[in-house]
Amino acid sequence: MKYISTRGQSPALSFSEILLGGLAPDGGLYLPESYPQFSDSDLSAMRDMNYRDLAFTILSRLIDEQDIPAQDLRTIVDKTYRAEVYCYTRKGQNAEDITPTLKLENNLYLLSLSNGPTLAFKDMAMQLLGNLFEYVLAKKGEITNILGATSGDTGSAAEYAMRGKKGVNVFMLSPHQKMSRFQAAQMFSLQDNNIFNIAVKGVFDDAQDIVKAVSNDHAFKAANKIGAVNSINWARVAAQVVYYFKGYFAVTQNNSQKVSFAVPSGNFGNVCAGHIARMMGLPIDKLVVATNENDVLDEFFKTGIYRPRGSANTYHTSSPSMDISKASNFERFVFDLVGRDASKVRELWSSVDAGGAFDIKQAGLFEKIAAYGFVSGSSNHSHRMNIIRETEAKYGVVIDTHTADGLKVALEQRDVSTPMLVLETALPAKFEDAIVEALGHAPERPAALEGIENLPQRFEVMNANVNEVKAYLVANT
Ligand SMILES: *Cc1c(COP(=O)(O)O)cnc(C)c1O
Repeated sequence: MKYISTRGQSPALSFSEILLGGLAPDGGLYLPESYPQFSDSDLSAMRDMNYRDLAFTILSRLIDEQDIPAQDLRTIVDKTYRAEVYCYTRKGQNAEDITPTLKLENNLYLLSLSNGPTLAFKDMAMQLLGNLFEYVLAKKGEITNILGATSGDTGSAAEYAMRGKKGVNVFMLSPHQKMSRFQAAQMFSLQDNNIFNIAVKGVFDDAQDIVKAVSNDHAFKAANKIGAVNSINWARVAAQVVYYFKGYFAVTQNNSQKVSFAVPSGNFGNVCAGHIARMMGLPIDKLVVATNENDVLDEFFKTGIYRPRGSANTYHTSSPSMDISKASNFERFVFDLVGRDASKVRELWSSVDAGGAFDIKQAGLFEKIAAYGFVSGSSNHSHRMNIIRETEAKYGVVIDTHTADGLKVALEQRDVSTPMLVLETALPAKFEDAIVEALGHAPERPAALEGIENLPQRFEVMNANVNEVKAYLVANT
């Protein structure tokens, strides 16, 4: 399997060749040159597989044997998806399922993706990335210094995935005193000497700007082996495809049944994996894209207009991990929507990259969106508070604010005769303040994370200054 760029002007590469990079050199995103197909009999054979077997079966169709030998991939997958790692299950769930479901009522389920070390779904992909990075770097005799900016979830998922990994250092910038106390404690309490936390005096965008400035300094980037683990990384999307299969098999008895998924969305990474699962043959009815007040995706699926907002017009909400101005992975879906015509993608993004918008209706493609099963909706703070309250009252289940966005839109778009799985993208313990506001009491916290705020913390406070960050990086590698 080779990977091609959505902009069509970069050479096709193997999985491990694109593993450590971000955008293709032509500015596009990588996708498989064709989607592997799972037939009805393939699906039947996969139906009773455990998570590891399922992950191996799907990933081995995306990674050539000559690139990563099957035996090595098997070892990496088995090491990644262990019950001990995804242990923060709810009552009645089996950690061996890795992504267990939780039935709310007939044909309505949560798909729990957040039972891993940082209590958010980003662990599902990032943990695999950590083991793949270590493997590929050792094989090439290389090292990488990952530089990133986070407002909370991505940074902690990356650090827990990369801690102690040979050949990998992580330099993670976060806005000083702007994360929740729990999120800061998760990151800053790590004592591994390959993890470096930098608290930047400023807001998230200041941290992000520093990362961009360093990445644009090509000489510095090459000399210091700067890498990234952002959401456009293909391996992250590939890892996320697996749990759509797992969720489908968990709530169906045979392959003639269809299910729908509701996905709390920001950068379109998670729901893009759902689209790809569907393209591979998984019988998906609807893919419900749920946004918060930052509704650039909802606008697209309702009107055909894709209009990124710019960071000045991005709201800070109570589902902060979905506070995005543009949906970085969206180009992957549009590539398929335009019939994989890279020149068309270049044309559409020439206006987006210049700060503008495009209208898919003008290209005569709006009707085609429905054929891919996409529908959408959005929610605001009071919707989230209400849904969290109603879900506790009705089902005795406490959900987080992001999952609440998903459930709110799922209920609007639901056809009660089709199973609907709402992807649980974080556990409520991660966003305690919002839960207290909704319910008047704190959510349950896993016993192992009790008192995490009191552990000794390791972090460096720095001005929002590129040269200071560069000097720190050089001094510590
Ligand atoms: C990152 C994140 C999202 C958004 O996922 P995308 O792949 O960017 O669409 C939703 N919820 C939570 C809790 C997250 O951390």
